[in-house]
Amino acid sequence: MAKSPSQAKNAVMRCLRGIVDPYPSDTEVARVWAFFVKTCVYCGLEMERADRKGHLDHLVAFKDGGANDLGNYVLACRDCNGNEKREENWETFLRRKNPDEEDFQRRKAKIEQWVALNAPSRRIVPADQRQAVLAAFEQIVAVLDPAVARLRGMRPPKPPKKTVSKPRCATGRKQPAAQPVAPPRETCPVMIGEGRLLGR
Ligand SMILES: [Zn+2]
Repeated sequence: MAKSPSQAKNAVMRCLRGIVDPYPSDTEVARVWAFFVKTCVYCGLEMERADRKGHLDHLVAFKDGGANDLGNYVLACRDCNGNEKREENWETFLRRKNPDEEDFQRRKAKIEQWVALNAPSRRIVPADQRQAVLAAFEQIVAVLDPAVARLRGMRPPKPPKKTVSKPRCATGRKQPAAQPVAPPRETCPVMIGEGRLLGR
């Protein structure tokens, strides 16, 4: 369940997209993990599915018609998928990530093997469907954002920062300076990306 407005937006986007472009089943996701031997295709990081650090990365981005079919998915680590590659062309990113020619060629061959294996089920999302998904998403966000702002204005104020008074020990030596106690921070990362965290 979404716990923040940004997570709710991600969930809405996934839901809308899934109507015209179904997501793979758990069994299919397991095939991705097995084929890539629990390893990031771009940097070689080994991962466990249970640690939730593996992402399904789209080779072709949604904006370019990339669909949720298996042949468009590869296994990537959180850094490669979420922080570094973003919407960069996968081969350009792979080259940048692998200055060693042998690493680059080996990893590229693995990806191409996967794409070829799943070629019969490849599909694209037509432009009119992509535009319809984005238009529906924008309509929902246009209602959601002002509602979130209104509700945030009704929140109780955050408690002021507390500082602990500086104690002196019996020897009269100075103690280390007191550290301010920060209130719990609310995080609200906003990202509608191509990456999909496995297991969600
Ligand atoms: Zn990686």
